[in-house]
Amino acid sequence: MVTSPVDLSTLEDSRSSGAYLKRDLTIVRGEGAILYDTDGNRYIDCVGGQGAANLGHCHPAVVAAVQRQMAELMVCPELFHNPVRAQYQAALCRAANMPRVFLCNSGAEANEAALKIARLTTGRRNFVSTMRGFHGRTMGALSVTWEKTYREPFEPLIGEVRHVPYNNVERLAAVLDDTIAAVIVEVVQGEGGLHPAQPGYLAEVQRLCHERGALLIVDEVQTGFGRTGTLFAHQHDGIQPDLLTLAKSIAGGLPMGAVLLGERVGALPPASHGSTFGGNPLACAAGWAVLDVLQNTELIERARTLGDSVLEHWRTNLPNGAREVRGRGLMIGLELRGKVAPVLKTLQARGVLALPAGTMVLRLLPPLVIEENDLWHAVHVIEEVLNDAF
Ligand code: PLP
Repeated sequence: MVTSPVDLSTLEDSRSSGAYLKRDLTIVRGEGAILYDTDGNRYIDCVGGQGAANLGHCHPAVVAAVQRQMAELMVCPELFHNPVRAQYQAALCRAANMPRVFLCNSGAEANEAALKIARLTTGRRNFVSTMRGFHGRTMGALSVTWEKTYREPFEPLIGEVRHVPYNNVERLAAVLDDTIAAVIVEVVQGEGGLHPAQPGYLAEVQRLCHERGALLIVDEVQTGFGRTGTLFAHQHDGIQPDLLTLAKSIAGGLPMGAVLLGERVGALPPASHGSTFGGNPLACAAGWAVLDVLQNTELIERARTLGDSVLEHWRTNLPNGAREVRGRGLMIGLELRGKVAPVLKTLQARGVLALPAGTMVLRLLPPLVIEENDLWHAVHVIEEVLNDAF
């Protein structure tokens, strides 16, 4: 029987698809913003479950809600009504100020649904997306994703998608004709290198969509649920999406996704879309607990103030080895002078886990519950590592 941690990671590698480049680290336990490996070593988690752990690991309110629901009912397709789903949907729609919601299981699925709904609603075929945009790996979501190495092996994709530079209204206006069903955009480009929308950009995108009869899909899979200092990041920008896609931290770590449907979309025709696990009571119970925590604690405010203070610190004391700092709230990117991969490795050896965003950007997505001294410790370790890096 295989029992040692080394044997188990070899076993995992031998049976996994191979699609993931795994780090040499086995995580067995998490609490708040701290992760532990097989030897009990402690890591400050600035990966945050790749954005799925805004509330931290094993948040007690989510654990309690899931345990309660697990003992009651775990499976209930949307063939039937369910009281937890009913109340969760109402709470989510209220929070987003949008009338309806379709529940699914991941970010790619949420974007996939949004693209289908846009075609259904407008009767148009084509889409506009942005350069450096990332929207997921299923065929539709991949079609609107920018990175060619992700897309090209899987072509042909879903038809005409026009990619325009992010934060550039003129280029958008030039391609937004009457074949375009929707424009899809992130509020802060995450995977594409941590690029926030400039003030006024999203309002102009919305105005053009309205003027040209296209829908506006706002992808908040990574920026949603308090990450940037408001419940949803687009609330900084004073816009109202027609379709708002959510996932990652939506259910405290359980797999879930959602598409909020605005007034310009309305209700979907029966049987036009569906998902066996979509709206399952376990995910709804977790999602409801997440909303409750975010709406009744200081966590979102905390993301804003902690994030602002780190951003301000690095704006005035940019670490050696970095060219620029960008971000909103606790979504922070340092554009480096060299490759990020070796920096991530050294940080891991120093007890700090972080993410890349492309090859040159160090990305931090710590849980919003991170202790202040842990966050500043991570900041100082990053500075020390970058001082020696390039
Ligand atoms: N959209 C954005 C903005 C994302 O950052 C991601 C994942 O990183 C996705 C969509 C895809 O989400 P998932 O991995 O849940 O399919």
